[in-house]
Amino acid sequence: MRAMERYRNVTVVIAAYNEQAALPTLHERLSAVLDTLAIGARVLYVDDGSRDDTWGVLENIAARDARVGLLRLSRNFGKELALTAGLDHAGDCDAVIVLDADGQDPPELIPQFVAKWREGFDMVYGTRVARDGESWLKRMTAAAFYRVMSRLSHTPIPRDTGDFRLLSRRVLDALHQLRERRRFMKGLFAWVGYRQCAIGYQRQPRLAGRSAFNYWRLWNFALDGITSFSTAPLRVATYVGVITALVAFVFGVWIIAKTLLYGDAVPGYPSLMTVVLFLGGVQLIALGLIGEYLGRLYEEAKQRPLYLIASVRPASQQND
Ligand code: UDP
Ligand code: MG
Repeated sequence: MRAMERYRNVTVVIAAYNEQAALPTLHERLSAVLDTLAIGARVLYVDDGSRDDTWGVLENIAARDARVGLLRLSRNFGKELALTAGLDHAGDCDAVIVLDADGQDPPELIPQFVAKWREGFDMVYGTRVARDGESWLKRMTAAAFYRVMSRLSHTPIPRDTGDFRLLSRRVLDALHQLRERRRFMKGLFAWVGYRQCAIGYQRQPRLAGRSAFNYWRLWNFALDGITSFSTAPLRVATYVGVITALVAFVFGVWIIAKTLLYGDAVPGYPSLMTVVLFLGGVQLIALGLIGEYLGRLYEEAKQRPLYLIASVRPASQQND
């Protein structure tokens, strides 16, 4: 199998959403790096339905650099789907490198990724040793997320690792087979397996603009991650229900015993209300949890395409 592995060329896939200010600088850095690579390289930018002039900037870049291909989605589908579109259109290449458009993932690391890949690793990912330019709260919540995730899921997801990575051809082929709608890419990358290798790097501040991920979006992202890779929350609902039922049963026995021994002294309005409200709350939690999974099943059942393409502009050549 490994003997068939080839190391001729890579495609760099970059999803961009409202990144007109960062892209020119990023591309300059990137193309300087690609010039030094001993193998062929192409770049594929995916414009994820940007509302600023990202597409214009990209067309400019492509006009001046023949290695650059462009893909424009019909609207904003979100980073995970934009990345998927990019991976699907990476074309005939032996590996793909995924990079953020805002310069937070230093392209200067690419030669190290390629070197590890040629040593035989199928996936080489960048792990942040420092998260400069990110708030204390973001670091805290990120750490908490990785901790919960590793407890709940059997798919080991490396912590402090974004989408910045190199994927070999067979990882790419494997990803093509995972067509689920709620795409938690970090999880999917980990699910694939094969030989993986981490390279530490300093996470840099954005070149320009603001992060598209506010806390609400991150929270929803975390929910997607957990529900896509773990059914443990469903089980939590079961346990909470069982414990509540047990407590309610003991409480009921106690009330009956009390009534038999001492008679019904006071109409039990307070205890009744407490029990009803508590049980109602527990039931709603359990229903909500089931709803989360049911909603995702519903989405899968619709079998919609993951994204729609508005225009494609392939790269005309690769460097060699
Ligand atoms: N991005 C995208 N679609 C979106 C949001 C973000 O393609 O709907 C891209 C964005 O242009 C950037 C990358 O995803 O290249 C990471 O986004 P961002 O920097 O906002 O996230 P953070 O680095 O804060 O996690
Ligand atoms: Mg960023």
